[in-house]
Amino acid sequence: MEYLSTRNIKKTYSFKDVFLKGLAPDGGLFIPKKIPFYSKEDLKRLKSLTYQELASDIILKFCSDEFNKNEVNDIVNTSYKNFRTSNVVNIRKIGKINLLELFHGPTLAFKDIAMQVIGNMYEKILKKNDLKINVVVATSGDTGAAAVNAIRDRQNIKIFVLHPHNKISDIQRKFMTTTNSKNVFNIALEGNFDDCQKLVKSMFADKKFNNSINMSGVNSINWTRIVIQIVYYFFCYFKVANQDEKINFSVPTGNFGDIYAGYVAKKMGLPINKLIAATNTNDILKRVIKSGSYKPEKVLHTISPSMDIQVASNFERLIFDIYSGNSDKISKLMKLLQEKGEFKLEATELKKIQDNFLSESLSENETKLVIKEIYNQEKILIDPHTAIGIGVLKKLKFKENIVTLATAHPAKFYNVVKNETQVVPELPANLKKILIDKENYKKLPNNIKVVQNYILEKI
Ligand SMILES: *Cc1c(COP(=O)(O)O)cnc(C)c1O
Repeated sequence: MEYLSTRNIKKTYSFKDVFLKGLAPDGGLFIPKKIPFYSKEDLKRLKSLTYQELASDIILKFCSDEFNKNEVNDIVNTSYKNFRTSNVVNIRKIGKINLLELFHGPTLAFKDIAMQVIGNMYEKILKKNDLKINVVVATSGDTGAAAVNAIRDRQNIKIFVLHPHNKISDIQRKFMTTTNSKNVFNIALEGNFDDCQKLVKSMFADKKFNNSINMSGVNSINWTRIVIQIVYYFFCYFKVANQDEKINFSVPTGNFGDIYAGYVAKKMGLPINKLIAATNTNDILKRVIKSGSYKPEKVLHTISPSMDIQVASNFERLIFDIYSGNSDKISKLMKLLQEKGEFKLEATELKKIQDNFLSESLSENETKLVIKEIYNQEKILIDPHTAIGIGVLKKLKFKENIVTLATAHPAKFYNVVKNETQVVPELPANLKKILIDKENYKKLPNNIKVVQNYILEKI
């Protein structure tokens, strides 16, 4: 399979380029030249597979020029052997809603599902190609934890994580800062998540620095994460839908990564009706999906911090598809965004987006109320991100054939959950030690030179 950049379709890339670089050299996002398609017959075959078999089948389609079938099987099985459920994910009912629980991995958020596989892919690719790399990643809380857990203690790889100082939950931070591993470095940046993401993007753009440290990225713009997240849309569909029936997915959304994976699943032939982008008060996606105007505003700090994002990077992949792969057009729109702080989609293209997506947002109070109501009615504790996924369904009056992605374990956001329900959600037993382990991180100012020097000192 060959890959392109959303900003220049004349040059092609291999899976290895895409995996190691994360971002295309022209600033665009990597995208496959052609998305594979499963026929109805194929879907019948896939329906009987275990989660791991299904994952191998789908992932292999995107990386067969780098890994053979046995290698992919091996990577997938190793990645999921320590999950707390043998099916990797769990599906339960809340009234008529199917709740797809994606938080049974080591750091209690859906990001483990992709990141564990990526950790094992790094190991194989680095060994095969005799490489050493440094991963630099910005996190709004959960990506960093998942990446640290997947990469800690591995050979030939170091990881630097930038999180916004005092803007993530205690548990989120402790997952990253208590590893006591020689190859893990945490930076608490004096700024918000968009500052962290901007710094990492600038370091990627600084070719001299980037090359000198052999820099690699695992943020949600990394194509491989998208591929791995496609799998649970298929798995869940097979478990909850009747044959050929179309279902809807409500997805708590920040960087548009997880929900975009659902869109790719639909393009691959999965019968999905609507994908619902559920956001908190950082509602850029709701505004663009309703009006066609993409205009980032100031980031607001909320009780669902993993979605406190105004620049939904993966949206560029969607508009590339909607504009039928016209990379000149995408470059123009991105230039407008940079220079004018906004771009507008034309009516025809907006309509194409609205055929596939809906969006709604929840205020802080509405989110809290959902947590309280679900507990009172069902005795189930949910985290604030998941609550947003559930709450927007009510606002949009969706009642049938719905799945909400439960993106984090309630214990990861125990303060909010406890305030609303008077119940303290328990951490899984084997994770309780992070509460008392010693933390290790370095507070740094929002200054690229200072951060670069820190990284150079440590590699
Ligand atoms: C990262 C994250 C999200 C948002 O996912 P995107 O792929 O950035 O849209 C939602 N919920 C939780 C708990 C997360 O960690």
